[in-house]
Amino acid sequence: MLYSELADTFDRLESTGGRLEMTSIMADFFRRVDPKELRNIVYLMQGKLHPDFYPQELGMADKLVLKAIAFTAGMPESKVEELWVKTGDPGEVAESLIGKKKQMTLFSEDLTFDRVVKGLTAIEGAEGKDSQDKKIKQLSNLMHDAGPVEARYLCRIVTGRMRVGAGAMTILDALAEAFAAKEDRPAIERAFNVTCDIGLVAETIAEGGMDAIRAIGVKVGSPVKVMLAERLPSIAEVVAKMGGRCAMEYKYDGIRVQAHIGKDGVKLFSRRLEDLTSNFPDIAQSLRTRCGCGEAIIEGECVAIHPETGFMLPFQTVTHRRRKDMKDVVRDVPVRIFMFDMLFADGKDLTGLPYPERRKALEDGFSIGGMVQMTTMKVVESPEEGERFFSSAIAARCEGIMAKSLAPESVYRAGSRGFLWIKYKKDYQQALTDSFDLAVVGAFYGMGKRAGRYGALLMAAFDPETGMFETVCKLGTGFDDAFLAGMPDLLDDGLSESKPASVEAEMVPDVWFEPTVVLEVVAAEITLSPIHTAARDVIKEGAGLGIRFPRFTGRVRDDKSPEQATSVDEIVRMYGMQSHDSDGISDGDDP
Ligand code: ATP
Repeated sequence: MLYSELADTFDRLESTGGRLEMTSIMADFFRRVDPKELRNIVYLMQGKLHPDFYPQELGMADKLVLKAIAFTAGMPESKVEELWVKTGDPGEVAESLIGKKKQMTLFSEDLTFDRVVKGLTAIEGAEGKDSQDKKIKQLSNLMHDAGPVEARYLCRIVTGRMRVGAGAMTILDALAEAFAAKEDRPAIERAFNVTCDIGLVAETIAEGGMDAIRAIGVKVGSPVKVMLAERLPSIAEVVAKMGGRCAMEYKYDGIRVQAHIGKDGVKLFSRRLEDLTSNFPDIAQSLRTRCGCGEAIIEGECVAIHPETGFMLPFQTVTHRRRKDMKDVVRDVPVRIFMFDMLFADGKDLTGLPYPERRKALEDGFSIGGMVQMTTMKVVESPEEGERFFSSAIAARCEGIMAKSLAPESVYRAGSRGFLWIKYKKDYQQALTDSFDLAVVGAFYGMGKRAGRYGALLMAAFDPETGMFETVCKLGTGFDDAFLAGMPDLLDDGLSESKPASVEAEMVPDVWFEPTVVLEVVAAEITLSPIHTAARDVIKEGAGLGIRFPRFTGRVRDDKSPEQATSVDEIVRMYGMQSHDSDGISDGDDP
């Protein structure tokens, strides 16, 4: 296949607004291409060469790309830089300078897709002291034979600016449209959720159809999207929703880890698919020693423990384990893992088994002790019993409880939030709502003491259906001086010249950010809002949902990707859980 076919498809996708139309453009393209090339095609649609959990990134520094454009176009770097500053987009710069050059050159040949993948792979893998030169050479080589549109996407891919709106959910829709029936869509999504590898799913369905997709199971070494809990406002409602009887576990306040225990070693993944093995080498080793199975996948919460008293310490302590430089930290911050689920054991995918069977497999599979513990669990049969268990969880310094269904259908639902698990936290007793994890999409310059720096942030929830970030509040409270001073370092990598394509907002901040940073926010109330765009028209025509009196808790959720921020749907459900004295509309922000 020629790379120009893919670049033209990117161009059509980019100029298309509606998701249905995008899906059908993609589906047409997927049907036409060689199934063997489909894996790399869908990775590139997302600006990658590998699945999300692959540690290496293609990212090439802007200044190297600038040099490569200047070299290929035969122009001084200063001229290229001028244009770059004006447009803010290396893709546009390359399109206007390089593509035209090719049209005038006799010695160029058509660029194949295969050559582009090889070239990008070489850029990603370039190492050593002349790695910068190697990268520039590889990119110029490709650009030498590229037309205008091809050059635009080459530069966007290598600089991590590839945004044609091809979110994972749209790609899955297109795969269903191209190779299966509408009713197969959930099975295709399940295959993605248990492998986190959209390229693998695309290749499998194109080559083997739905039979091959249904045969995909969890595999040691390939992270599984985590199952998530719903929330309810009281223990009585939790017990009632579970049909009067359920398991309750302590809800530990640490870092969630999915451990893939192989014959030769252990890999630990965070919930955003980062490799955490080097942060918890002691946990990895203990799990291997104490696991009786050859291979297993388990989940647990890693919690910091006071070295003398053995008490559990607050979340902030265990975050020291996420530092880059781990020297001394392993010794100074002792931890334990409290295991709560088992997804795989010795060749068997356990995700389709009910919770009691998975819990039993977990207990049987390990010799519990030392750093490796089970979550405290009790089967509860009344609200009173639930309240007593909740009190004991708080006394043990936990955040609350996790209720888990005991029903035959209580399978492990990878990547989904549902009522098979329900969380109830002590915070719910003090505030009207649970905390929100919101993506930063903009900032406002401060006044008075905060003059000259960011004083407030525009915060958004995520809608997985549309792939859009929709605003819910302007956040200006809860920042201490250190946080205010550190805001540019935290946020400025994501600076965007204009409103990012993935953001739906009416409120206009002084600067925009691509959603990358997630902050935890508490608030007094969710209200109808004329200005915020979350769940616009869902509760009331012309109104969205906003949150009132938002306050930053001090917790940067770097364990969550922006797509794992609180979803718009969750905010709608939380709104439904509040009592509504009036139907008034408020602007949803601090006064
Ligand atoms: P969510 O995970 O629902 O997106 P969150 O990360 O903000 O939200 P919480 O709302 O506090 O976290 O609750 C869910 C998290 O609680 C789980 O993802 C897991 O990390 C943690 N957890 C602690 N104890 C347990 C347990 N016994 N069973 C399952 N999860 C637990």
